[in-house]
Amino acid sequence: MDAVTSPAAYSELVQRIQRARTLGSVSDLLGWDEQVNLPPGAAEQRAAQLAVMAEVQHAADSDARIGALLAELEANPAALNGDQAAVVRQARKDYDRATRLPPEFVREKAAQGSRGYHAWARARAADDFASYVPVLEKNLELARREAAYLGRGDAPYDYMLDEHDPGLTAAVVDRLFSELKRDLVPLVREITQSPRAEVARRTAARLTGFPAAGQRDFLREVTERIGFDYQRGRIDVSLHPFCSGSGSDVRMTTRYREDQPLDALFGSIHETGHGLYEQGLPAAHLGTALGIHAGMAMHESQSRLWENQVARSRAFWRCFEPRFRELFPAQTAVVNSDELHLAINAVEPTLIRVEADEVTYNLHIVLRFELEKRLFAGELAVRDLPAAWRTAARELLGLEPANDREGVLQDVHWSGGGFGYFPSYCLGNMIAAQLWARVQVLRPGLEDDFARGDFTWLLGWLREHIHSQGRRYPALELVRRVTGEDLSPRHLVAYLRKRYGGLYLG
Ligand code: ZN
Repeated sequence: MDAVTSPAAYSELVQRIQRARTLGSVSDLLGWDEQVNLPPGAAEQRAAQLAVMAEVQHAADSDARIGALLAELEANPAALNGDQAAVVRQARKDYDRATRLPPEFVREKAAQGSRGYHAWARARAADDFASYVPVLEKNLELARREAAYLGRGDAPYDYMLDEHDPGLTAAVVDRLFSELKRDLVPLVREITQSPRAEVARRTAARLTGFPAAGQRDFLREVTERIGFDYQRGRIDVSLHPFCSGSGSDVRMTTRYREDQPLDALFGSIHETGHGLYEQGLPAAHLGTALGIHAGMAMHESQSRLWENQVARSRAFWRCFEPRFRELFPAQTAVVNSDELHLAINAVEPTLIRVEADEVTYNLHIVLRFELEKRLFAGELAVRDLPAAWRTAARELLGLEPANDREGVLQDVHWSGGGFGYFPSYCLGNMIAAQLWARVQVLRPGLEDDFARGDFTWLLGWLREHIHSQGRRYPALELVRRVTGEDLSPRHLVAYLRKRYGGLYLG
């Protein structure tokens, strides 16, 4: 590091940020425990614990001393080196977010979030969108107000996107998604209309009766081999799979279905990708911009890269198929290697996002982004969402929901005001494909490594170029630095065409 004029101010800032982050990690752990271990009668007690922790953390985040330190450091920007400037920039953003929202607003938003969740669950169960309209209208209003408090009242949707992916704007997403849509819609039509699509679905359906214990052993071996460090993390069971924690304590979850053995496996590999990223962040800088991830799109790129580009490849299964058959001899006897590979890469358009394969998944996200963008622009009224959803589903997926449960009511995100989150999933796929193209140029024999069960080169490369960078750069700049070009959907389309074209259109 270069010399700075106020090293004491900088060290104190870092100390305070890291302390606040440690408090946050305690809440994360309570949240993990709530989903994995909580006795049914303990929900209220846990809610009280989480509420107290949130108060304590908010007090730490909004401590006026942080404001004073930031003002001191910002008054003399030339004294900060690049890394320090990144830390100060992120700290300013977090501090403004903690201090510029009035307490009444924070309370109103929290109460609305909880009301919104229950209203959504009821509306979905009863297929009653009308009852959900006031909730969504209120959530939109709160989002606009929040953006205004943070000085982004002119561009509230950009503010929402930036919350998840620093630096991202609707204009950038719009350009990327329009290009993706143009090339992906026809490819999806070609694949899903191929006779092989039906064969793939039937083959996948033949994989039944896989006991959970065997699945657990297999996915543990696989995730350990690709590099997850079980000395600094673990995997448990929860209703909805997720990954939380960071540094030396990363918690992943999965769930087992005996008749869908590939679900737990690929779900776990996905969470392992998130976990590897968290385990690879610079430990000494945890909590500051040098030790946190570069945003949700980059996070999702790590999970998708391991789940899709790596684990759905032929080479990967050259390594793991013998063990899979050894653990499940009777269950796997119904498919040969080609059939297993086809089942692993089955494509089926569905109306439900969370059930979608990696080809059609992206179109579900394009649909949600386009609707969010129009909602925030005032071009679409909440009450007109169901019809707009049906039109978009027909256009993008070639399917039309029979009811709103299969359409606008399927996702939980908007019920809690989570606008601007969906694009990260698809951007993550684009980034993964662009990183994949890059590593294949750098190491042409990469897939031979996989066939030997060796993932060290790939993980080492990601560690060096992505994980160790923390949030020094906005994600799109990091992509440019690492791959030598701006993020483009063409790598994703080329990857999908190569892998799925080979299987379905060959
Ligand atoms: Zn994920």
